[in-house]
Amino acid sequence: MADQPQKDERYKARQQKIKAEVDARVDAAQEEKGLFLIITGNGKGKSTSGFGTIARAVGHGQKCGVGQFIKGTWACGERNLLEQNGVDFAVMATGFTWETQNKEADTAAAQETWAACKQMLADDQYDVVLLDELTYMVTYGYVELDEVVEAIANRPPMQSVVVTGRGAHRTLIEMADTVSEVRNVKHAFESGVKARQGVDW
Ligand code: ATP
Ligand code: MG
Repeated sequence: MADQPQKDERYKARQQKIKAEVDARVDAAQEEKGLFLIITGNGKGKSTSGFGTIARAVGHGQKCGVGQFIKGTWACGERNLLEQNGVDFAVMATGFTWETQNKEADTAAAQETWAACKQMLADDQYDVVLLDELTYMVTYGYVELDEVVEAIANRPPMQSVVVTGRGAHRTLIEMADTVSEVRNVKHAFESGVKARQGVDW
């Protein structure tokens, strides 16, 4: 069995190698531009990740905007906090589509919110824009995919955009710089636990 000094040496050598590799990758990444991120998949954590990014940017003094498609019946904790910190919100006026079951009204509400989002995507004052649950608007046909592609592609070069929601369209996935898929391993709701304020909304 190797004695302790030998183990320490090997540990040090391994760490040095990792550091050299990381440093090389950091040096190689020279491009500076706003990023397009997608957080998709069936597991919990997409919107919280999007809002986490907004909180991070606000912490650096950056200007942020949030478009919320599919508003629930509950007030959203993130909005309460972030609006007080200068984040602009465009929130869809209707509740979940499966509750209203009125395609015309849902389309109009989605279009109104999308119009406000397009303004943010065209405004270089915004450093980061979160389009929460936008994927569903494309899936249901409330917002045209081509319009989304155009607005995101033509946004100010230093502006970052985060899109959340299940089933992100493959065209958006191809366009994005960073895509993460949150996989559902298990969720409390499946074992009959109620959604919880502060955790789920
Ligand atoms: P969160 O807002 O918690 O990050 P999310 O954005 O990943 O969740 P959504 O599909 O937008 O997920 O759903 C929002 C609500 O549904 C939250 O209350 C969340 O806890 C719940 N939820 C998310 N994923 C699941 C799941 N796999 N099963 C049951 N409920 C879920
Ligand atoms: Mg969500």
